[in-house]
Amino acid sequence: MTNWCDTHIHLDAPELNGRGLDFLSEAPQCGINRFVVPGVRVSGWDGMVSLAKSSKNVYLAPGLHPVYADQWTPEAEQQLQKLTGQSKVVAIGEIGLDGTVGLSLQQQEMVLRAQLQVALDAGLPVLLHVRQATGQLLAILRELEIGKSIGGIWHGFSASLPVAQELIELGFKIGVGPILLRDNARKLPEAVTVLPASAFVLETDFPDMAEKPEILVRVAEKVAELWAASLDDVARITTENARQLFDF
Ligand SMILES: [Zn+2]
Repeated sequence: MTNWCDTHIHLDAPELNGRGLDFLSEAPQCGINRFVVPGVRVSGWDGMVSLAKSSKNVYLAPGLHPVYADQWTPEAEQQLQKLTGQSKVVAIGEIGLDGTVGLSLQQQEMVLRAQLQVALDAGLPVLLHVRQATGQLLAILRELEIGKSIGGIWHGFSASLPVAQELIELGFKIGVGPILLRDNARKLPEAVTVLPASAFVLETDFPDMAEKPEILVRVAEKVAELWAASLDDVARITTENARQLFDF
């Protein structure tokens, strides 16, 4: 029996109108039985907690997405610190830097550093989001050495092979998602083929990147092809990699 883990799925996305869990109806038949839901907005954190209460397979990574960094307040910080004590909270996310939005990267970095500190204090790994700020994020990760102490996942990876190599050396895992299925994908398939299997976890980023949660198995089939391995091996290895990190 395969046993998949989706390390990044937005079951609480507003566009799902509270029907996130309904989308999971077919997932157990595919063997997908662990889901990590990352935070996006402060206002979404309570809903995430209810979601995890109503489904035993749902785990949480609350945090503030860089696109909403201007929602960060002392109250939000306290609320996040408190959430780290909840039993189903397995990480802090998704946090990072996004160079494609209006907010300054300086402000985003301040909020990122504050959330990294919350994660460090709680001993929880982080889910990282980065767009057009790879060098800046890498510099912070190098400086704080958080990969070695708490670890984490660089989600939606699509950067170059040297960046992937450095991330692994820094103690991070690489989130492989639907980008791998694109016809024009070059860098991600190369990284998946060349680098150690212990570095990879699977994700859908549903509903942003995938139409349904079952896409995870399509991503896994592609990984199996690149590794010249069986689908069972891909399930066993990627789920073990996620469990090491999230402790579930
Ligand atoms: Zn996401």
